[in-house]
Amino acid sequence: MGKPTGFMEYERELPQERSPLERIRDWNEFYRRMPEEALRTQAARCMNCGVPFCHSGIVLNGAVSGCPNHNLVPEWNDLVYRGLWKEALNRLIRTNNFPEFTGRVCPALCEGACAAGLATAPVTVKSIERAIIEKAYEEGWVVPRPPLERTGKKVAVVGSGPAGLACADQLNRAGHLVTVFERADRIGGLLMYGIPNMKLDKAVVRRRVDLMAAEGVVFVTGVEVGRDYPAEKLLREFDAAVLCCGAAKPRDLPVEGRGLKGIHFAVEFLGANTKSLLDANLGDGNFISARGKDVIVIGGGDTGTDCVGTSLRHGCRSVNQFEIMPRPPAERGPGNPWPQFPRVYKVDYGQEEAAALYGPDPRHYCVTAKKFSGDDRGCVKEVHTVEVEWVRDDQGRLSPREVPGTGKVWPAQMVLLAMGFTGPEDNLPDLLGLERDERSNVKAGYGRFATSVKGVFAAGDMRRGQSLVIWAINEGRGAARECDRYLMGSTSLD
Ligand SMILES: Cc1cc2nc3c(=O)[nH]c(=O)nc-3n(C[C@H](O)[C@H](O)[C@H](O)COP(=O)(O)OP(=O)(O)OC[C@H]3O[C@@H](n4cnc5c(N)ncnc54)[C@H](O)[C@@H]3O)c2cc1C
Ligand code: SF4
Repeated sequence: MGKPTGFMEYERELPQERSPLERIRDWNEFYRRMPEEALRTQAARCMNCGVPFCHSGIVLNGAVSGCPNHNLVPEWNDLVYRGLWKEALNRLIRTNNFPEFTGRVCPALCEGACAAGLATAPVTVKSIERAIIEKAYEEGWVVPRPPLERTGKKVAVVGSGPAGLACADQLNRAGHLVTVFERADRIGGLLMYGIPNMKLDKAVVRRRVDLMAAEGVVFVTGVEVGRDYPAEKLLREFDAAVLCCGAAKPRDLPVEGRGLKGIHFAVEFLGANTKSLLDANLGDGNFISARGKDVIVIGGGDTGTDCVGTSLRHGCRSVNQFEIMPRPPAERGPGNPWPQFPRVYKVDYGQEEAAALYGPDPRHYCVTAKKFSGDDRGCVKEVHTVEVEWVRDDQGRLSPREVPGTGKVWPAQMVLLAMGFTGPEDNLPDLLGLERDERSNVKAGYGRFATSVKGVFAAGDMRRGQSLVIWAINEGRGAARECDRYLMGSTSLD
């Protein structure tokens, strides 16, 4: 283990971030590097617990506790503490194809379950993970490793988000010839056209895609399977197919005035911004600008935070964010003990930046939008809200109830809807005749990933519904394993 008394001797310390007021002036990542010695000290805080909940990935009280991918956290912490970085890398990539993504964007479910968090503060797992992989790239330890033998089997992976990429990476390692189809002009799914550059630099995504291409994965962009490439051809031309198309149907807010100009889905706003940034450093104007506008973001999750951060970088006049749920407590509540995922109040990068610029946290809790009103050009002008309280019904279910007399009108020339996603798009599943589950996701049991059509597998948000990058990686790996078993009769993939 690291240092037996490390967690008592050393305080938790995270790498510094660039100051909010500095970083909102550009689109570069907000992380700063931590010196190697300091990282080793942080790794020394790991107790290498007999039962390491940090990598358990079990569902407790409706939420996952510990890493869903069962990353070998105590092992790499110990190796980092001992300065054995290359060995730490080998443990890290044993379970995670893309630590450079999770080390930047993961909500770190591992840290919520870390036993050191019971006594003091959790080990800084996520930043150690990021440091290991970045050092590995710098040292030249991450190089193309094409498979030594090819099986001659051809597999199509549809969708190039983290699920599709993890799946393609694993299948390629198993020696299959993998073609990844992506309808966007760049590979990466929501890693590319969802999560903004300041949280995940697109050069980091490209670096991995280039590596996979050098290892033999074929990437085809600008092709939507089911529209530009016939679905039945997929089944004819390939020995198997894995669908990783995400859950792209956004949840709408069908209230009065929804049709007004200036009301956009979050991913429309975020995706166009990244594309314009990469194509022309925003010089082509092909994005929806928040400049000089009062922006209202509806939805308090990660996507909403990204909308806040992006609007600030455009130079919005003001930004407010509505969340229908109550503000979480500062500390774990009585119904939320360790090692459950802590449901506590957190300030993410976007809120920190908004607060640095305008004063308060831009989030308003227990608030819902009732209607939008517009000007005589049909553009949104105001958002009308009301506060809600959460009450239990006869069956004990919590539901929101409007609080009389709390109506408020907010100026807004731009509204961003960031309320999540309802499921996958219908076209490809319908063309292939795939069964769906009760939530409209493609039906394929976790662990088997086989759909109702032979030789067709499904993984990631398309199968489990809107989720996280680490789950997508986990599912992509699992689907690759089952696809390999289907093709070869057995598999050595994890
Ligand atoms: C704005 C935003 C921010 C987020 N931030 C975080 C975060 O900080 N941390 C985190 O863990 N998670 C985050 N998430 C969630 C995370 O990004 C997703 O859970 C994850 O990307 C899902 O991966 P996936 O591979 O299943 O699908 P996706 O990443 O959605 O990729 C699916 C891909 O399939 C392509 N596709 C669809 N249909 C076809 C077709 N017929 N033919 C060809 N291509 C097709 C799409 O163009 C897309 O590129 C965020 C999500 C959003 C929207
Ligand atoms: S992937 Fe996420 S949950 Fe797993 S070890 Fe890394 S930061 Fe923790």
